[in-house]
Amino acid sequence: MKIIIIGGVAAGMSAAAKASRIDKNAEIVIYEKTEIVSWGACGLPYYVGNFYEDPNNMIARPVEKFIEAGMNIKIKHEVIGIDIEKKEITIKNLVTGEIFKDNYDKLMVATGAHAIMPPIKNLSAKGVYTLKDYTDGIILKEEMMKEEIQDIIVVGAGYIGIEVVEAAKHLGKRSVRLIQLGERVLLESFDKEITDVMEEEIRAHEGVELHLEEAVQEIIEKDGKVVGIKTNKGEYKADLVVISTGVRPNTAFLKETGIEMLPNGALVIDEFGKTSIDSIYSAGDCATVYHRVRKENVYIPLATTANKIGRIVGENLAGKNTPFAGTLGSAAIKVLDVEAGRTGITENEAIKMGINYKTVFVKDKNQTNYYPGREDIFVKLIYNADTRVLLGAQIAGKKGAVLRVDSLATAIYSELTVDEIGMMDFCYAPPFARTWDVMNVAGNVAK
Ligand code: FAD
Repeated sequence: MKIIIIGGVAAGMSAAAKASRIDKNAEIVIYEKTEIVSWGACGLPYYVGNFYEDPNNMIARPVEKFIEAGMNIKIKHEVIGIDIEKKEITIKNLVTGEIFKDNYDKLMVATGAHAIMPPIKNLSAKGVYTLKDYTDGIILKEEMMKEEIQDIIVVGAGYIGIEVVEAAKHLGKRSVRLIQLGERVLLESFDKEITDVMEEEIRAHEGVELHLEEAVQEIIEKDGKVVGIKTNKGEYKADLVVISTGVRPNTAFLKETGIEMLPNGALVIDEFGKTSIDSIYSAGDCATVYHRVRKENVYIPLATTANKIGRIVGENLAGKNTPFAGTLGSAAIKVLDVEAGRTGITENEAIKMGINYKTVFVKDKNQTNYYPGREDIFVKLIYNADTRVLLGAQIAGKKGAVLRVDSLATAIYSELTVDEIGMMDFCYAPPFARTWDVMNVAGNVAK
């Protein structure tokens, strides 16, 4: 049995590690086009913001350790083609330029995604960056640390854009502008009640400007270097621009195969991680994931999912038949001093699903008044109006918000009702909660 894995990060290496443990006789080859495997991009914004200094902290395990352990990893090798009839891939050695072929019995595509570059004029000017790959982080930090770089513009207020704002603030930059085309930050992931809390937090920080419903049209350059940007509403000075307008799956090299994809190129996989082609599996940012509440395949590129489905694919490559139970799209974000988490579906998703739903929004306190450090906490629940089963939850606040979301993720997974959440035995002590935790309150307020 020969298994080939394309891409050696979260999904690919999770699969390789699992498959090699289960089937000790399988021949496993991993092709990775960069020189780094098994690292966590989630640490990039905090590296750029100098919350820590050593970029090696992002690397879970150096490539040499994998090779020492007997893994056949070919770094600086890019897979450029595939022949599904012959079960053969074409690879380019990026060091020597040599092009060669390799055959598989089973193939896993774990090629992740790349940053989308929106149609903005002069994007190739010096001083315009993205934050996706390891080297992006190294280069961006080097620039951001320079004294003369003071005015930062971030285009796109998704997870990465907001994290870059925090990074720039942490580096003490003079001005940070966050420009968002949509009407709210994190439009797809959170509802308005919660993004209002985030936006208030962003606006409360001196030197940070939030621009909503504004379209960046052009990078203004001088001698090939960015000096500002032009939008449909004005012009702003910039020493450095970060584009964070989403990602798209790295699956272009599979287009001709007829393999089933979503319109954005995400490979459609079943519960076992198998694509529409029998011997080809996939997971991570290049693939879909089954949503437990929406009951359909969706594109939610997250490390949590890449690791989990990656491991499941590893089992199935090695001959097992393990299904993935589905995602809830649980995710968290730190918006300067506010933290927020979400799980299940948003109200917008409930509308799109056409279900009979209700919502409840509660503003409360995270803990007792007499213990120092009490903060506001905001909870939104989305639930089925007929069955009262919880379908979605979002929480924001300065303290204790995100990890509460995990409890509600468990509740959604288990199909608990808002009434059960109202009486759930959540833990209590004065520094952490109130006797009726805000989640109990939200469950009880739900009518
Ligand atoms: P990737 O990590 O993208 O790895 C794919 C690999 O495949 C790459 O190394 C690439 O070089 C290689 N490759 C691509 N094409 C080829 C080819 N043709 N031949 C050979 N090799 C190829 N997720 C969270 O859950 N929480 C977070 O807080 C979070 N923060 C993030 C912050 C940032 C700045 C970024 C960029 C991402 C963040 N994510 C977060 C998302 C998370 O990093 C990804 O979901 C995860 O890395 C996906 O893993 P993957 O293995 O699918 O893809």
